[in-house]
Amino acid sequence: MTPERDPVAALQAALGDRVDTTPASLAGARADKSGHAASGLPLAVVHARSVDDVQQTLRIASATATPVVTRGAGTGLAGAANAGTGEIALSVREMDRILEVRPDDLLAVVEPGILNADLNAALAEHGLWWAPDPASRAISTVGGNIATGAGGLLCAKYGVVRDAVLGIDLVLADGRLLRLGHRTVKGVTGLDLTSLVIGSEGTLGVIVGATLKLRRLVPGEVCTIAATFPDVRTAAEASAAVTASGAQPAIMELMDAASLAAVHALLSLAPPTPGAAQLTIQTDGPAAPAEADAIADVLAAAGGTVALSHDRAEGERLLAIRRSMHPAMETLGTALIEDVSVPRSALPAMFDEIARVEREHGVVIPTVAHAGDGNLHPNFIFTAPADEFGVVEAPEYVWAAADDLFRAALRLGGTLTGEHGVGVLKRRWLADELGEDQWELQRQITRVFDPQGILNPGKVFTT
Ligand SMILES: Cc1cc2nc3c(=O)[nH]c(=O)nc-3n(C[C@H](O)[C@H](O)[C@H](O)COP(=O)(O)OP(=O)(O)OC[C@H]3O[C@@H](n4cnc5c(N)ncnc54)[C@H](O)[C@@H]3O)c2cc1C
Repeated sequence: MTPERDPVAALQAALGDRVDTTPASLAGARADKSGHAASGLPLAVVHARSVDDVQQTLRIASATATPVVTRGAGTGLAGAANAGTGEIALSVREMDRILEVRPDDLLAVVEPGILNADLNAALAEHGLWWAPDPASRAISTVGGNIATGAGGLLCAKYGVVRDAVLGIDLVLADGRLLRLGHRTVKGVTGLDLTSLVIGSEGTLGVIVGATLKLRRLVPGEVCTIAATFPDVRTAAEASAAVTASGAQPAIMELMDAASLAAVHALLSLAPPTPGAAQLTIQTDGPAAPAEADAIADVLAAAGGTVALSHDRAEGERLLAIRRSMHPAMETLGTALIEDVSVPRSALPAMFDEIARVEREHGVVIPTVAHAGDGNLHPNFIFTAPADEFGVVEAPEYVWAAADDLFRAALRLGGTLTGEHGVGVLKRRWLADELGEDQWELQRQITRVFDPQGILNPGKVFTT
């Protein structure tokens, strides 16, 4: 291959030591945290340090028609950042500077590779925060959060990524740089391409900068309620009752019996009552104590055993039980961590469906839910052999159970993914939710941004 047709030689000539072909790096770029890995190894991992590095990479990729898979921290749960045979993995993790913080305008301008928690630690010094708080905030990037449209525990009250981004700097497949959005509170000039890019999973361009909408740190007390219920349906009905009461908790997390038992075992806590499910709820702001009292009354009326704490440290201890879900699942086997959303009133019915899928498919599905917004994370537990790189793929019987569960969520008026995205793992169900016409329209939109189809091919869309 002549140098001008060999993408790796061209990248090395342009970017020198930012082009990494070491076996460990190539193997690492095959997989995210979903359990899925791309087949084969990518050509190279480019560690971009500047917008110019990204533009040069994409110009070379365009000229050689080489696919590019953009990567933040690789914590995604849909296989969307996985790069395989013939592809360039473009890591923006080293582009991690905060370029500007404006407390007066409540905005910050950042590079995409900064970790969510690092950004928030820096913003706290100004009395500010960026609200999206995925449970992975200590290990995931702001660019990845934007590209997946991430959510978190606090988003029922404070919004998801889509509510917290004013503008995006985007490098297109051919290397051109677009500045989308604005720095103003309002702004309706032209089509809202910023929103289009949020959740686009690397298929429209590479996010090289973001103007983020900030909040001031919330003053006042934080109150935490832990309520246990005899079974998960009663707990789900109680969470729906809290929402229907008009109360606005900052956090409302539901753990079913299997999740609760696994976490208690992991943390060496006394075993919970068999079958019991738990709601952990926080209120914040000046009205926190009154809201907590009102919510406690709703929970007690719904059959809960309720404990209320005004102590922040005790609140963190109670929330640590919910935050230990992921490591607890690892003690049970390999977990396919799923992500469906239903209207909040449909949570009890969705838990009935999960119980049915468990019975009919003979699988164990410990489930937690961001009950404040109707987003459930069913964890399909299985055991299967690892490949040569240690990646364990979910077997087909697990996918059959997941298929049944996804269709149940859609029947209940829900959606396939509340916050993790489509990636590779859910692309076969995308048209079921969108319908053929919308699927085709969305596909055509990606082609406007990326006519050659070199940006994250095979992700989100099947062809
Ligand atoms: C323990 C654990 C807990 C989690 N909890 C949550 C949670 O509460 N809520 C939640 O929403 N998610 C959660 N996740 C999933 C994951 O952390 C999020 O999807 C996160 O937003 C991914 O960020 P990342 O930097 O790791 O992106 P990556 O995994 O590297 O990439 C994800 C996708 O974004 C694209 N991408 C990344 N950076 C860019 C960029 N600069 N430009 C264009 N495209 C880009 C990639 O191509 C890929 O399609 C969790 C994951 C783990 C492992």
